[in-house]
Amino acid sequence: MHRVYLDNNATTPVLPEVFEAMRPYFSERFGNASSIHHHGQETRAAVENARESVAKLLGCSAAEIVFTSGGTEADNLAIAGIVAAGDHVITSSVEHHAVLHAVRHGEEIGCEVTVLPVDGRGLVDPADVKRALRPTTKLISIMMANNETGVLQPVDQIGEIAAAAGVSFHTDAVQAAGKVSIDVKRTGCHLLSISGHKLHAPQGVGALYVKKGTQLHPLFHGGRHERSRRAGTENVPGIVGLGKAAQVAKAALDRGDDRTMSAMRDRLQQGILAQVDEAAVNGDGAPRVPNTANIRFDHIEGESLVIALDLKGLAVSTGAACSSGAIEPSHVLLAMGMRPDQARASIRFSLGKQTTDAEIDFALSLVPETVARLRELSPTYKKHAGMTTYKLEAKS
Ligand code: PLP
Repeated sequence: MHRVYLDNNATTPVLPEVFEAMRPYFSERFGNASSIHHHGQETRAAVENARESVAKLLGCSAAEIVFTSGGTEADNLAIAGIVAAGDHVITSSVEHHAVLHAVRHGEEIGCEVTVLPVDGRGLVDPADVKRALRPTTKLISIMMANNETGVLQPVDQIGEIAAAAGVSFHTDAVQAAGKVSIDVKRTGCHLLSISGHKLHAPQGVGALYVKKGTQLHPLFHGGRHERSRRAGTENVPGIVGLGKAAQVAKAALDRGDDRTMSAMRDRLQQGILAQVDEAAVNGDGAPRVPNTANIRFDHIEGESLVIALDLKGLAVSTGAACSSGAIEPSHVLLAMGMRPDQARASIRFSLGKQTTDAEIDFALSLVPETVARLRELSPTYKKHAGMTTYKLEAKS
């Protein structure tokens, strides 16, 4: 079956050049990067090269990069590494569970937590961050880009507020890295998380930027790897893959490939909205990463649409990958003020570097008719019958 993958916010395919860069480190270049002999020196050099490439993507120095097992570990290290009992933490209601649950754990050990609301577009108001500050505030953790809607938070402004208050600022940039240009100095963050598998490197590798001078308690206790910030033998092939993917992403951003991607995403979005009534883009009006369109199709269950599209060869998602399959409506969309039925009627389309114009055409040929078919079965849509015109005839 012809299959099209538009679920790149869940995970991305490893690029061929990334795979080729990794390949020798599974076999002939197998050394432990801590060994002092030739084999170790070879892998140490590869790890340090990758560190340079990741640092270039983020605008920091290589010594400020700590490799981790992924975005979840980077988020946990940023939070648990900074806060202790009695500290106050500020976060937002639309964070990924890797942040929300890590902060909730902080509460269990005696931290106080403020979870800020967002507006209807999914944006945190920097003035709310400022108002939430307390003398005990130790950390602000607000994401750069949301995984479900792609909405970009005003992190540069939040960074200024954090700096003025002398508070550490962490941003989860897992869904931003490689999609928009990142400069940790412009953002003024002390900590920033990324994950390999969201930017065409493999799953199970990530990194945390830790600003020079930031005191971080390690999560793991063991050897003195990663300058004593993350114990454990390095995942050399994964790190090499992340380094190569960071290089590819940086070159693409420098070329302006993000504009090509947003044009493709906009064509998909507009094409769907032109053919389907009672559909809306979640996060419309807010700045967004170029690859994501989260669209609400009233009167249907998103899960049913995901399954129906999958049967025809199109892979999309109802939101966070980890909540796919669960019936709970998205906490992100609820936080944006949506009713549970509206949140459940929403679908995320997310493009990757491999996405082609022909694949967008395929999605455009499939989505409107599938939504129309599901709506024919929908009791709430039936009440509407006669009042609503579906513009299927607009499809060429
Ligand atoms: N943060 C965000 C915004 C994410 O989208 C994800 C993954 O979906 C994570 C953190 C977790 O990253 P990982 O899958 O590498 O643990």
